[in-house]
Amino acid sequence: MTKCLCCQKESSDGRRPSREHLLPTWLHELVEMSGVQLERFSVHESGMETLIARHGLNNYVSRKVCNECNNGWMSQLEDEVKPLLTCLVSADRTASSLSGQERNTIARWAYKTSFMLLSGQTEIAAPWEKFSRWCATGRLTPGSAVIFALSEPSLPRAFFYSLDEDYFHGRAYGVVNVRVSLCINSFLLVVLIPSDEIERQPGAPVVPNSCVTFELLWPQDRGCAVLPLRPSTNPPKLPREWLRFIVNQVGAGICRRSNPS
Ligand SMILES: [Zn+2]
Repeated sequence: MTKCLCCQKESSDGRRPSREHLLPTWLHELVEMSGVQLERFSVHESGMETLIARHGLNNYVSRKVCNECNNGWMSQLEDEVKPLLTCLVSADRTASSLSGQERNTIARWAYKTSFMLLSGQTEIAAPWEKFSRWCATGRLTPGSAVIFALSEPSLPRAFFYSLDEDYFHGRAYGVVNVRVSLCINSFLLVVLIPSDEIERQPGAPVVPNSCVTFELLWPQDRGCAVLPLRPSTNPPKLPREWLRFIVNQVGAGICRRSNPS
């Protein structure tokens, strides 16, 4: 018996598990290249990569969502985001031009898609109770997540994603955020999902002499702290390595309250 990750209903309740594409099918034609397959790597802290799977986008699926959720609210959310995201990934619009309402739409889609990407692996533990609560309470905002976007027209046509964990003062304190990055052609999203219920303070770097500017999509009611760019040598030149470098620049720290009560 399988439980739907969204509605928590068992497949025996008359709900059948469906074939949910982890990258929605309508996006495939925007990123697919003839003869090129999706390659999934496990990346060691040293930077060493191990190829774990290679397949077409059409076979990049999960069976952990029921038919009703997949063809119901998830499909509606795809319809809502499609005109916006099509402009963004084609560089017809930039992240900075998005209105508050549009930021909310992209942020909800990014949150949903992040959990779908997490459902396709077992190495990183996602806060699934948070996702099912979000589904049960109407999915109006991406809650305590912190979501950044970046428009970078120089990036090549490609689909890139990475899943990672942020630690606080080393691993002894455990995972603070799950970090999901998703780049579709020239549009990059970084979704930071807190592991607890404590509010996070978004932080983004100011990169000297660079056109890299992250836009904060969510939350919208709080400013964004300026972070010093992490000490590093020159950013890597290869697109995949550069993306891995750049998605680790933004952050979401635990808020310190000046007036504890
Ligand atoms: Zn369901």
